[in-house]
Amino acid sequence: MKPNSLRELYLEQLRDLHDAERQIIKALPKMIDAAQSEELQDALAEHLDITREQAARIERIFKQIGEKPSGEKCKGMQGVIQEGSDLIAEIKNPNVRDAAIIASAQRVEHYEMAGYGSARAYAELLGEDDAAQLLQQTLSEEKEADETLTGLAESINVEAENEGEEEEARTPRKTRRVA
Ligand code: FE
Ligand code: ZN
Ligand code: FE
Repeated sequence: MKPNSLRELYLEQLRDLHDAERQIIKALPKMIDAAQSEELQDALAEHLDITREQAARIERIFKQIGEKPSGEKCKGMQGVIQEGSDLIAEIKNPNVRDAAIIASAQRVEHYEMAGYGSARAYAELLGEDDAAQLLQQTLSEEKEADETLTGLAESINVEAENEGEEEEARTPRKTRRVA
């Protein structure tokens, strides 16, 4: 669909976000499986439940206006998720991998925040007050998820750093790279 009005652009962005949420619902269980930290697993699992509600929220907005939420593919989210899963699959060290899972998940959250910020602004302008409120709720949840991940990174990044040093100490001096 080529949007030719702000209303059409609004619906295009909402469909894109709906597809993004569906992609995240598929990706999160794999990230939970790959995570070592129980706290990180719990945070991702909690966000999986919230993400299901967020997708349902968009479906509710479409139902109210008698339209369908399907028909858009979020290529951006596809790329963000693909890049993260490629990176996570390459990392053997569990602490470094957890740090990478956090970094990937935060990219997802920020990408969503950008989309929901625009969609909420359009809803307000178009007088879709209920939708604006629902979109603000989701935006707040994405921000909260991002802050939780920042908090977890504070300890997990340090563990990843220590792990790197232990690895270095185990490596015989001769084979260590100087430059
Ligand atoms: Fe979401
Ligand atoms: Zn997109
Ligand atoms: Fe999210």
